[in-house]
Amino acid sequence: MESQRQYPQQFSFEFFPPKTEQGAEKLVAVRDQLGTLNPKYFSVTYGAGGSTQQGTMDTILSIKQAGYDAAPHLTCVGSTRDTVSELLQTYMDNDINHIVALRGDMPSGMRDMGDFRYANELVEFIRGETGDHFHIEVAAYPEFHPQANNALVDLQNFKRKIEAGANSAITQYFFNLDAYFRFIEDCESLGIDVPIVPGIMPITNYTQLARFSDMCGAEIPRWIRRRLESFGDDKESIVAFGLEIMSDLCLQLLESGAPGLHFYTMNQSGPTMAIWNNLDL
Ligand code: FAD
Repeated sequence: MESQRQYPQQFSFEFFPPKTEQGAEKLVAVRDQLGTLNPKYFSVTYGAGGSTQQGTMDTILSIKQAGYDAAPHLTCVGSTRDTVSELLQTYMDNDINHIVALRGDMPSGMRDMGDFRYANELVEFIRGETGDHFHIEVAAYPEFHPQANNALVDLQNFKRKIEAGANSAITQYFFNLDAYFRFIEDCESLGIDVPIVPGIMPITNYTQLARFSDMCGAEIPRWIRRRLESFGDDKESIVAFGLEIMSDLCLQLLESGAPGLHFYTMNQSGPTMAIWNNLDL
């Protein structure tokens, strides 16, 4: 973990584009509450396959207009060279200089991947088109990507994204600290030297968390699962236990030299603020 200590710790918050006007209004309030914590940037997810792409742009511009740094996510799925060029130009025209480049997952029923197969190809294209304008983030998987044939190949694929020009990475969320520490060590031994910021998922709803985790390959350790299950519909206990677990995880990460935290806020300020308040930042 020593290599990660050289980077200043930075904090960021992720949103998804709201689907309704009411959701958009609520997000403005959430953003301004979290804005008081002085984040480095807010990022906004991008619906692979097109479902929320205008929403991403609208949310990003609204964040930027409110005076915060904004980082749009962008996926290979559903993108062509032309659509990406156009998007990049719009972002540049609006003084956006930070981007999260991803492959995305093909929605069921969609056949055409677009012009890019893997995130490293998208990173390479963004660099080729826009030089050093963008700070490019990519995804990292301390417990490995669910489709990777094996751990080493996945690490090598991660390295391709850095070699293509990514500046830093955000991890998939995880609950196993050792997985992150090992991942960082492996990256060091492969000569990867960029900040790898842990992604943090506040725990507020067990059913939803279990479903997400199955899909994205994040393991919920048995002892955490069993405890969460035992609370049944008692939301208050789930939230209290989740807060304790996640605050502990974040504290240990920061003490060990993690270069900051990226919170998957799920468009809510409460759970993220509660963890934050326990960190003494
Ligand atoms: P890649 O890095 O392309 O890797 C995907 C798989 O392909 C891995 O198994 C890898 O080992 C393999 N691979 C990579 N490169 C190669 C290569 N050159 N040759 C052969 N195999 C290769 N999804 C969205 O739809 N929208 C979002 O906004 C979004 N935001 C995210 C933010 C974060 C921080 C994270 C961690 C994930 C996000 N995702 C998002 C989910 C992400 O799109 C999925 O996890 C997706 O399955 C992989 O994306 P990736 O960019 O990591 O893909």
